[in-house]
Amino acid sequence: MELGDKLEILADSAKYDVACTSSGVDRPGRHGQLGSCRLPGICHAFTADGRCVSLLKVLYSNVCVYDCSYCVNRRSNDRPRATFTPRELAELTIGFYRRNYIEGLFLSSAVVGSPDATMERMIETLRLLREEYRFNGYIHAKTIPGADPQLVERLGLLADRLSVNIELPSEASLTKLAPDKKRTAILRPMGQIAARSTQSKGEMVRYKKAQAFAPAGQSTQMIIGASPETDYHIMNLTEGLYKKYSLKRVFYSAYLPVVQDERLPALTQRPPLLREHRLYQADWLLRYYHFSAAELLSREEPNFDPYLDPKCNWAVRNPQFFPVEVNTAEEAALLRVPGIGPKSARRIVQARRMQKLGMAELKRIGVVLKRAQYFITCNGYAAARGTRQEIAGALLDPHAFGVGVQQLSLDDFVPQALPDAAPQVHQLAEQGVPVPEAARLVREEALTCLTRRM
Ligand code: SF4
Repeated sequence: MELGDKLEILADSAKYDVACTSSGVDRPGRHGQLGSCRLPGICHAFTADGRCVSLLKVLYSNVCVYDCSYCVNRRSNDRPRATFTPRELAELTIGFYRRNYIEGLFLSSAVVGSPDATMERMIETLRLLREEYRFNGYIHAKTIPGADPQLVERLGLLADRLSVNIELPSEASLTKLAPDKKRTAILRPMGQIAARSTQSKGEMVRYKKAQAFAPAGQSTQMIIGASPETDYHIMNLTEGLYKKYSLKRVFYSAYLPVVQDERLPALTQRPPLLREHRLYQADWLLRYYHFSAAELLSREEPNFDPYLDPKCNWAVRNPQFFPVEVNTAEEAALLRVPGIGPKSARRIVQARRMQKLGMAELKRIGVVLKRAQYFITCNGYAAARGTRQEIAGALLDPHAFGVGVQQLSLDDFVPQALPDAAPQVHQLAEQGVPVPEAARLVREEALTCLTRRM
């Protein structure tokens, strides 16, 4: 098989993997070596459909001995298969790098033969890149669950970031949908990477020649919507992963129905993109806003509101916390105000050392006053007064009612509900309601419900 054909198959097979960013790594360029991962903020991927990306995202192989029901590369699926050799993939990466197509590599693989055999080949690819081709750019590698810890160690010394996909949010779902995978085989390398990264950081401080182990840390990916777990379950799991394994990121991947299987959602079901978006927003709240999973959701309210972002939802449920006085409140309290992010909270704390802050200053600082004005006071005075309906209108997330246009020909534009609009908008549109009207109706209903709740 031609190398180009292999690339087409294996880049296409890798497109369902979302766990790639290079945040947190700063290895500079070195004399006599290629690449630097300090300058480019690499967080893209090179896919077969021609999108401009800067990270070659590819599988080493899509020939898999496992049979995970949600995966297009599973053993029982009939699809074109291909496997690189380590040298082919190393040369391809270097060739692309020299032509300025990419700045790094995101390498994952199906399980070829066994986890150990697959890891050996991935390690050889990375060894060629690092030692023979002197490639100093960013490499993100997926570890294969079940591989020998010594192989994880070797991979971590060659890659910038490692990741182990947790795949599904619970052991029960893993047993049902990916019977070849064991929860312990996923969590054990995560624990090893966390411990080894900490050790490596200490050694780097003490010894000049200490080798960095996965300096950009580790991440994981979870498939959302293929199994019945609630957002509350997912957020608790996420919080535990961040605490226990010091993960840099948890990536959520809306399940794309590509497989006909009675254990999975029907092929006609839309990927839950709005839910994925809400989970990312909540994840952000855990990492940068000091929220805990238990504050965002509960057993009684186990899923995020499709029409409100999780922070606004928390604000609506906790009116006793407001108003927050911007001139005296702790930074942590400012962070709880809808419309104030970490950057603006920091700026408020700095700016108020010089002067009392009013609405004009907050606007200059970058506070989103449309939302924040109903939750703050400036020097003891309410920043704005609004009816419950006005406040509800300011809080509703426009994402949920997003309408775009699809151009069918030069002069034919058709309104379309955006892929991550609320499922109710899509449902009405499918029933024949014109899309802008569907979005308007759903928004009106959401507004009425929220006004009643407040
Ligand atoms: S191990 Fe499972 S998820 Fe990974 S490629 Fe094989 S079938 Fe797909």
